[in-house]
Amino acid sequence: MTRELAERLRREHTLRPEEYRRLLEACDEETFGYLRAAAAETARARFGNGIYVRGLVEIGSRCRNDCRYCGIRRSNRRAERYRLTPETILDCCRTGYGLGFRTFVLQGGEDPAWDDGTLTALVAEIRRRWSDCAITLSLGERSVASYEALFRAGATRYLLRHETADPQLYAALHPAEMSHARRLACLETLRRIGYQTGTGMMVGVPGQTIGTLVEDLLLIERLRPQMIGIGPFLPHGDTPLGHAPAGSLRLTLLLLAILRLMRPAALIPATTALATLSPEGRRLGILSGANVVMPNLSPAAQRAKYAIYEHKAAFGCEAAEGLAALERELASVGYRIDYARGDYEE
Ligand code: SF4
Repeated sequence: MTRELAERLRREHTLRPEEYRRLLEACDEETFGYLRAAAAETARARFGNGIYVRGLVEIGSRCRNDCRYCGIRRSNRRAERYRLTPETILDCCRTGYGLGFRTFVLQGGEDPAWDDGTLTALVAEIRRRWSDCAITLSLGERSVASYEALFRAGATRYLLRHETADPQLYAALHPAEMSHARRLACLETLRRIGYQTGTGMMVGVPGQTIGTLVEDLLLIERLRPQMIGIGPFLPHGDTPLGHAPAGSLRLTLLLLAILRLMRPAALIPATTALATLSPEGRRLGILSGANVVMPNLSPAAQRAKYAIYEHKAAFGCEAAEGLAALERELASVGYRIDYARGDYEE
C-alpha cells in the first residue's frame, strides 16, 4: 500500500494529507528503499551526477532571539560570541572564489549590529568583486525595506526556515516576541521581491508529531520554495531542550526523499546536521535526493563558536579546505563536485 503511494508521489509530485501521513507512519523498508532510490534518480535526471557546493561563511554568533533549541540563543551565557568584520568576510569569499566556489552563503544570528547600511555595503562589495557569484543570505527576519535593499545590493537567494507549520509548536519553541505569522510573511516578502527562497525544518524537534510534519509538507507544497533545508534536530546541552533525543536519521532521509519527489527541481542540501548525526549522513542524504553541500569557509578559529548544536561537523568534508576529501567521498557513491553557481531552474 505505501509502495503504491510512493509510486504515485513520484509520478504526480503530490499526495493528499492523509496519504502523506500514511507514508510517514507506515513506510516499510521496501518502500523506504524505493522512495530513496526514486528520489536519487529524480535528482540525477535533473542535475546529473554533480553536487553543487556553496561556501558557507558564518558571519557571527550574536543573536537577539532566544529559540529554545539553539546553542547561540541570547540567554546562553556560555556561548562564545564573535562577529566577523566585513574585511574578514571578504577574505573568506576571496579564498572561496580561489577554491572554485561560485555561491557564498552568509549565515548568522539576528544581530542588530548588522544594520542595513553595513550589510548592504558588504553585499554590494561582494557583488562588485565577484560578479559571477550568487550571494545567499541566511540572517533571519528583517524588515521589508531591508530585504529590498539587500536584493538591490546584489543578494540573490535567502534561506529562512519556517521551522514548523504548526503555530502552537512554533510558539512553544520560540520566545513570545517571535511570531509564526511574521515568519510566513517574511517568506512571502522574500518571494515577492525576487529572491530564490529556501525554507525547511528540523526533524525530531520536541513536540513535533507526524501530524505537524504532514503540515510542513503541505506548507512546502504551497510555498514552492526553490531551496529546501531539512536536517535532524540535534540537542545543545546549554539550552532548555538539551536533554531531548536527537532526531531520527531514517525519518530525516524519508522526508528528504519525499521532498525531492514533491519538488524535483529544488535545491536540497545534505545538511551539516545530517553529517553530524551520522558519519554516513552526507552520503545517505545524497542517495536520498539531496544535490547540494555547503562546506564551511569561515575562519577555522571561529567555527566551533557557531554552535547552534553540539559537536557540529565543520572540518574534513564539511570544510572548504577539505574539498579533495569531499570529492573522494562523492566519488565513492558515483557523484562529483559541480562548481557552477547552480541557480534554480523550473
Ligand atoms: S535559531 Fe537563529 S534566530 Fe533562533 S536563536 Fe538561534 S541564531 Fe538566533
